[in-house]
This record gives sequence, C-alpha cells and structure tokens, in this order.
Amino acid sequence: MGWLLIILSLTVLWIASLCKVLFAPSKASFLDNGHCFIKKNVLLVIAHPDDESMFFSPTINYLIARGHNLHILCLSVGNADGMGNLRKNELYQACAVLKVLLEKVRTLDHPDLQDGFGKVWNHSLVAKIIEEEISGAGIDVIITFDQYGVSGHCNHRDVHYGVCKYFHDTSRRDIEAWELVSTSLFRKYIGPIDIWLSNFYSKRIPERLTHCIVNEHPKKSFHAMAQHSSQWVWFRKLFISLSSYTYVNTLRKIDK
Ligand SMILES: [Zn+2]
Repeated sequence: MGWLLIILSLTVLWIASLCKVLFAPSKASFLDNGHCFIKKNVLLVIAHPDDESMFFSPTINYLIARGHNLHILCLSVGNADGMGNLRKNELYQACAVLKVLLEKVRTLDHPDLQDGFGKVWNHSLVAKIIEEEISGAGIDVIITFDQYGVSGHCNHRDVHYGVCKYFHDTSRRDIEAWELVSTSLFRKYIGPIDIWLSNFYSKRIPERLTHCIVNEHPKKSFHAMAQHSSQWVWFRKLFISLSSYTYVNTLRKIDK
C-alpha cells in the first residue's frame, strides 16, 4: 500500500511537472541584459553527433527562439565503423529540426579525436581547434560540458578541459564561457520533475553565475534525437523520455 502511494504520488508529480514544462512560459534570462536585445554569436562545443539532442536541446531551443546566432562544433563523427558520413548527416538532420542553420554546424573527423572510452583527446589540440572556430565566426559565448560531462564520458570531459585550456592560454577575456551542470544519477532520470530541483539549486547561486533553462519545446528534442537513426534504439528512446536533460539545462559560468 505504501509503495503504491509513492508510485501514485510520483506519477502525479511527473504529469504536473510535464504540464509546467509544456504550458508555463520560461523565465530564464540567459544572455538577456534586461534592457535591449543584443544578438550573440554562440558556440556550442560537443564531442559526438547526438550530444546536442540528448543533452543540450533546452539551451538550443532557448537560444534559437531568441534569435541568437548558434554555431555547433562537433569534434568527432562518433563511433565511426565506416558510419562517419551517416552520423554526420544525422547531426545535420537533427540540427534542421532544432532550426540551427546548417552552415553553422561543423563536424570534424580528426585522427586524434576519435570517439570511444580510453581515447584520450589532447587538450591543446582541442583548444587550438576552438581558437580557430572563435576567430573565424566572431564568437562571443561558448557553451560546453562541465568537467564530469553529464555521463562521465572521457570525450565529453576532454572537450571541457580543451575549452578551459583555450581560456588558460588566450588573452581574450571578453568571451563568456558556460558549462552544462552534471547532475546526480537520481536527478538525471526523474525527467521533468528535475525542473524544481534545478530551479532550487540555481537560486542558491548568484544569477549572473548560473541559469536554469526549461525546455520550451521538449517534443522537438525528441524529434531531433529521432533523426539519429543509427542511435535510435529502445534504450535511447527511453533515455530521451526519462532524462532530465530533455526538460531542463542548468548552465554555470566557467571561472576563467
Ligand atoms: Zn557524447
């Protein structure tokens, strides 16, 4: 009886949280100075095709809806096995769903940046690639993984350290850098319920250092992930439905 009550309460909370995501307007103020709109050139740096849909879609939807120029730099074509071109095309299809302009999406297939656990990526190499991207596209803001990289994947973590290496070496202090906060395993799989916890934790930190972004179009995120046909297996469908990263992103400013 006790368990039944807990399951029933969680179901009600899940539905109520989903309704909040779907019907309540987002109150996020990321890149909003409160006075006038200034269009920013934002660079999202990811490790693999599908990172954008699995983890960053609330942020992508937020930026696109507000008219910012979003560039995506994907540092590998995923676990190739001769599928490099397929995975690259899947990324472009997902970006089309997310309304990211395809000419602003760049995917690399560098021999030293291959997908996989145990494949260590050189942070200086990542930093150099990021530097080229920043100067080529006039980037104002960088967004990437934090040091745990959501799933603990070493490629995600190396992307983070590559961004940090760039800021360590550069004199450019005008570029803002933000990281996607990794949550505990419990919070990662409570779906939309995590919007309350993300909001609570964000409020404990000054607003200029953290932002909680609730996804304005979670259905679009699901549809974007479905474009990754080679990865669209049952457990990823389940992941996208249950993962809190489909519903909310917490961004924290990287201390440069
Ligand atoms: Zn990944």
